[in-house]
Amino acid sequence: MRVDGLIDGEAVLDKEGLYVGDNPPGDDDWAPYAKYLDQCTGQQINTVGSYLIRHGDRVILQDAGMGPEPTLPPFTGGGLRSALWALGVSPLDITDVIYSHLHIDHIGWTSVGGKPYFPNATLRIDRRDWDHYSRPDYKMEDWEIPVTHAERDLVSKRFAPVLDRIELFDGDTEPLPGIVALDASGHTPGSTVLELRSDGEKGLLIGDLVHTQGELVEGWEFVINHDRRMAAEAIERFRKYIYDNKIPFAAAHFPGLLWGRLKKDPGGSGIAYETL
Ligand SMILES: [Zn+2]
Repeated sequence: MRVDGLIDGEAVLDKEGLYVGDNPPGDDDWAPYAKYLDQCTGQQINTVGSYLIRHGDRVILQDAGMGPEPTLPPFTGGGLRSALWALGVSPLDITDVIYSHLHIDHIGWTSVGGKPYFPNATLRIDRRDWDHYSRPDYKMEDWEIPVTHAERDLVSKRFAPVLDRIELFDGDTEPLPGIVALDASGHTPGSTVLELRSDGEKGLLIGDLVHTQGELVEGWEFVINHDRRMAAEAIERFRKYIYDNKIPFAAAHFPGLLWGRLKKDPGGSGIAYETL
């Protein structure tokens, strides 16, 4: 199994306002994680993109980026086409797209100009996210309104040209050999973490379980979560799973889509993040 991060664009945000709850991080809390911020502006970098997984005769994407059509701030997109090209992969080669969840920055290349961009792919989606976001009468959340071209970006519009290619899955399941979908609901109703298994090794693609390293290690509460309690529980569950089993992982928005791991740290929470 080979896995490559494909950068489509980014969303760069002021770190103030990213976290809510009883104990949002202050400058002291951010200090150990400052090296992951934009070193010039101090802003927080959300890389936007996909992971390409090549395994046997399958050519799989986790997520479909923001897409090439004009976006609204803070999102940019459009790089995924070149990123695929650089690896010698055509959109026609993609056999499957598995979505971590259905927010706009994960579905953009699903269709372009009203046509399927991966016409040979089966599109695999957690049923709960599909049921929630695909309703024709879906009501956008506050954060979505200023960043969404509703006539194009809503799930009901984006997936309209590809309805015959969708396969829904339920809960913990193995939609493809060596690729296990694990329930991580909270950020959205059907958020999914992918566990990749090959040659006796494991790796996790954690999607939007967290958006920054501090969120995973310290449990900071992200401002956008469908269910706050379930999101916090999912983070705690996967933090323990990753740490106890020493599993390398990659997130949907960590800068550069780099792999990392959790290791023992005598200070703070006793756990620290490091990039591999
Ligand atoms: Zn996202």
